[in-house]
Amino acid sequence: MEMKIDKVIEPTPGRGIVIAGPCSAETEGQVMQCAKDLAKLNQVDLFRSGIWKPRTRPGSFEGVGKEGLQWLKRVKEETGLKTTTEVAKASHVYDCLKAGIDVVWLGARTTVNPFSVQEVADALNGTDIPVMIKNPINPDLGLWIGAVERIYKAGITKIGLIHRGFSYHGETVYRNVPRWQMAIEMKRRFPELQMVVDNSHICGNRHMLAEVAQEALNLNYDGLMTEVHPRPDEAWSDAAQQITPAVFGELLEGLRLRKPSANEVEMERLTELRRQIDEIDSDLIGMIGRRMKLADQIGHFKAERNIAVLQESRWDEVLKEASQRGKDHGLSEEFMHGYLRAIHQESIDHQDAIVNKAQ
Ligand code: PEP
Ligand code: MN
Repeated sequence: MEMKIDKVIEPTPGRGIVIAGPCSAETEGQVMQCAKDLAKLNQVDLFRSGIWKPRTRPGSFEGVGKEGLQWLKRVKEETGLKTTTEVAKASHVYDCLKAGIDVVWLGARTTVNPFSVQEVADALNGTDIPVMIKNPINPDLGLWIGAVERIYKAGITKIGLIHRGFSYHGETVYRNVPRWQMAIEMKRRFPELQMVVDNSHICGNRHMLAEVAQEALNLNYDGLMTEVHPRPDEAWSDAAQQITPAVFGELLEGLRLRKPSANEVEMERLTELRRQIDEIDSDLIGMIGRRMKLADQIGHFKAERNIAVLQESRWDEVLKEASQRGKDHGLSEEFMHGYLRAIHQESIDHQDAIVNKAQ
């Protein structure tokens, strides 16, 4: 789909987009204090605060509702900070437009649901309020793309992306695993969309916030959205991941913005190194092709003798040996396992085709 996208926010040169504020608006005092302290940092482009909170279970704090919009209005009047909040239904959109909210965002639980996205898109139709779209909870790029398209088709041209990580079953240090490659793919498909990292929801804790924000800047993101609360431990939602405005100020100080690309001299050196990489990639593909030819021969051999395609003990041996060899070359176990599994699956697919045909 051909798109003509405008920027959601024009960031101050030399600094990325900075969106900060509490997970939830709790009281007028909490919102005002947070906004005033953040405004003093002089680096915040947009004040965030959840007014309607999508909670997993009923009975948790579900947001203060529309009353909170008046507090955001006050934030803008008294601090000059522009404001943003999450919308999930048509009525949210109407209320935000009436209250003069500057930017709205679609939450991860909305992006997964095309009915909700369409409802929000229809409510936005005819306005030009900027919209940011969080990735869906599950790692499905189609849903994220679909949400962008639905909002764009409603006539909104100022669209941005928020990468907040993906839910994951299993042990992980993150609350939501980043899966950087999915966000990178989204950037590749929509290079004109600004993308910020929501390090708070990726981390779910305070100690990794800076690391994740820096990783995003290394990947050329346009900025960040971070949850900031005047008294994080007392927050009514997401207490574990929120930080004070002062700590947030320190986090910003420590970040290094990267240049989006190289100058001519730097480019020359990069081109040379990339040429060497391309050569190695080409060799690797050739060798993997040769490896598959051997797998084919094994497939024929097994087919003739009716031997099963998979011998677990052999696979276990390959996995262990190659992981160790990878380690000797500075390759992580995670990478080696992913790489070997992909190659092994391709071998199995080749042999399956041969064995099934011979049957
Ligand atoms: C939030 O930003 O507070 C929020 C609810 O985030 P998400 O939609 O990413 O879960
Ligand atoms: Mn939150």
